[in-house]
Amino acid sequence: MLDDIERILFHEQTLLSRLDELAREITASYRGQELTVVAVLNGSLIFAADLLRRIPLPLRLDCLRVASYHGGTESTGTVTFHQLTMPDVRGRHVLLLDDILDSGRTLHAICARLRGENPASIRVCVLLRKAKSRAAELDADFVGFEIGDEFVIGYGLDYAEHYRNLPFVGVLRREVFETPLPG
Ligand code: 5GP
Ligand code: MG
Repeated sequence: MLDDIERILFHEQTLLSRLDELAREITASYRGQELTVVAVLNGSLIFAADLLRRIPLPLRLDCLRVASYHGGTESTGTVTFHQLTMPDVRGRHVLLLDDILDSGRTLHAICARLRGENPASIRVCVLLRKAKSRAAELDADFVGFEIGDEFVIGYGLDYAEHYRNLPFVGVLRREVFETPLPG
């Protein structure tokens, strides 16, 4: 698996140090409020686990499963929800967590669905934000790292459901995209 990596962007220690700061920012913003975190699976699983343990506030956690890539490295533009009902966020302060803000379509679609449930507020937190113009009008309120417009994997992010368990964020060697993955 490590042979497939061309370059590491953020080592584990760099990620965790930034999460310390991000958690402090979030804690300060929500002090005195009851927070409801909605984590977008599978990509935000590891990020959410590490971030939430750094936020010493009472909070609820809900998870959503959506898909927008369907196995490739380009967003398809269509967002598929894997559940029929949205979490009950009526009157709640929602912090939506995702791994990465790319075109913005996924988070835009989720925000629209959540707004229909009448939350008190919705803010968005992503580990990574790609520096590019976005197809959907959406920005994040809390951002871990700004990155260039390239396909990254690791720390929850996958390529064809592989590499999520890497402890760092990196870029795959070009040959990996050209060779079929086992399994
Ligand atoms: P968007 O809807 O903003 O284009 O894409 C958001 C979703 O696409 C993310 O939640 C993530 O699952 C996936 N995605 C976008 N960019 C990347 C990337 O560089 N690497 C990986 N592994 N997934 C990405
Ligand atoms: Mg995702």
